[in-house]
Amino acid sequence: MINKISDEILLSVEKPSRYTGNEWNSVNKDISDIKIRFAFCFPDVYEVGMSHLGMKILYHLINKRNDSYCERVFVPWVDMESRMREKSIPLFALETKSPVKDFDILGFTLQYEMSYTNILNALDLSDIPLMSSERTKDHPFVCAGGPCAYNPEPLAEFIDFFIIGEGEEVLPDVLDIYALWKDQNTSREDFLEKISNIEGVYVPSLYDVKYKEDGTLEKIVPKKKDYPAVIKKRIIKDLDNTFYPEEIIVPFTDIVHDRVMLELFRGCIRGCRFCQAGFIYRPVRERSTQKLSDTAKKLIDSSGYNEISLTSLSTSDFTDLPDLTDKLIEEMEKRKVNLSLPSLRIDSFSLDLMEKAQKVRKSGLTFAPEAGTQRLRDVINKGVTEEDLIKSATLAFSGGWNGVKLYFMIGLPTETMEDVEGIADLGNKVVDAYMSVPKEKRGKGLNVTISTSSFVPKPFTPFQWEPQNSIETFTEKQKALKSKIKNKHISYNWHDSKLSLLEAVFARGDRRLCKVLVKAWEKGCKFDAWGEHFKFNAWMEAFIESEVDLAFYANRKRNYDEVLPWDHIDIGVSKDFFINEMEKAKAGELTANCRAGCSGCGVAVFEGGVCVE
Ligand code: SF4
Repeated sequence: MINKISDEILLSVEKPSRYTGNEWNSVNKDISDIKIRFAFCFPDVYEVGMSHLGMKILYHLINKRNDSYCERVFVPWVDMESRMREKSIPLFALETKSPVKDFDILGFTLQYEMSYTNILNALDLSDIPLMSSERTKDHPFVCAGGPCAYNPEPLAEFIDFFIIGEGEEVLPDVLDIYALWKDQNTSREDFLEKISNIEGVYVPSLYDVKYKEDGTLEKIVPKKKDYPAVIKKRIIKDLDNTFYPEEIIVPFTDIVHDRVMLELFRGCIRGCRFCQAGFIYRPVRERSTQKLSDTAKKLIDSSGYNEISLTSLSTSDFTDLPDLTDKLIEEMEKRKVNLSLPSLRIDSFSLDLMEKAQKVRKSGLTFAPEAGTQRLRDVINKGVTEEDLIKSATLAFSGGWNGVKLYFMIGLPTETMEDVEGIADLGNKVVDAYMSVPKEKRGKGLNVTISTSSFVPKPFTPFQWEPQNSIETFTEKQKALKSKIKNKHISYNWHDSKLSLLEAVFARGDRRLCKVLVKAWEKGCKFDAWGEHFKFNAWMEAFIESEVDLAFYANRKRNYDEVLPWDHIDIGVSKDFFINEMEKAKAGELTANCRAGCSGCGVAVFEGGVCVE
């Protein structure tokens, strides 16, 4: 069956181009020749999903195989969803408009905990049972990967298998086994058992979970001894010789990141103690300058984009950045293409580079000191001093910039009111730095924005055992900070800590949260990360009705010897290292970055990248 989305429907919804497909460089295949149909679903709207690099890579990677066809699926916005439900149109893939239910495998990418209800909604709209235990051979296998898959337990009852680590490594092995299984026509369980032996695959239904009387976990154990007791992440060793698309889809409508993305490296050398990405993607593996500049040219030529962005966790840590940017600027100038440089540590080199690279409006520069005092910046191992910040800001103001955004987190472990107030002090010092620049050199109309988010303790970080502040404490701290900010050049905004509370629950949750997710979704929760759709009260009812205590997950301090829901997942970084880092945090001691010296985190077992340099 192929859906026909009528013009009448398209004309009645916001942004119809979210649903039409057929964009430049999208892949067309004859489905009668295809053995494996893969639906790649980003659990959010088109313009968010289309901006995601992982989706671009895996879409083209799967489509390189002659036996497979990967199509894209996004969650319809509420207006389209109600039309689809009215007219009984099931969720469909963009390329062929086929219902998702007709596919062999449905893959979700888990970028953010607050997309989980959208996954349930997508399954329901596809007419696929929410519970993996209720699926039959008529249904696709449902898999999920991405950063949130590192703690798969809160979704364990809905997902047939998880991919832990880099999809480029694991997916081809899964597809090979699927092709054989399809010919053999054996049971669903048989396929899941077979893939459970692939490194980087976790099949939650093959594991039993036992709890202690106090509600903490006793153990998660394989139901049979031939299933792996620990699931080890898979990573690519050599990024230069791995697939990277040379064509990308060009949307007909504006998307969040509407440009070519060039991924310089994976991982981060820094080791900030709150940052999950910094640990799960270890070790740092770089692409070569030659490979990057060749890929950049091909991507620009095949897409016609006029902007290219260098994406990585901390772009300025790329070892060959001066040479790479020189090469790119030279090539891109010829093609009248702008280079955009996010996540730079600001120093004179990078400011110079920003001047050269983009025709930037000299208004917005972003710094992320994360904490207001040096003591707390040392606790989180940020490795940035006040002096660095003031020096960079002064440099930027002397170069004509007049706007600075400062990002902070409140609720970090060991934080006191002094640290919170330190945020306002730092803002004032940035204003002073501007005033110290002669009038004729600086831009007019200074604007300093202070933003605070609420700290969310994440699995696989040194802070994974720490409690999150209560909503009351967050509110108290936000109020105190607001009252301290008196300077007319500074504005202050903060994120809703109610959302961060739920994020904390699901980030460190276990299987008992599956029922809360179903209840919340039944009460209409979806697009939770979109302010206008966030239904906090419905969520609270879902917790009460499921008899699940939020505080147990969000606000409780764990002991080092407690079994954690993600203990059966192995990212290479050892628990001892995290404990050691937590103890160093309490003592305010710094840990050097991986290039300054290896601190023996354990990930060297992967024998790649920065660990063997
Ligand atoms: S083993 Fe050493 S160099 Fe490698 S990621 Fe860990 S700390 Fe960094």
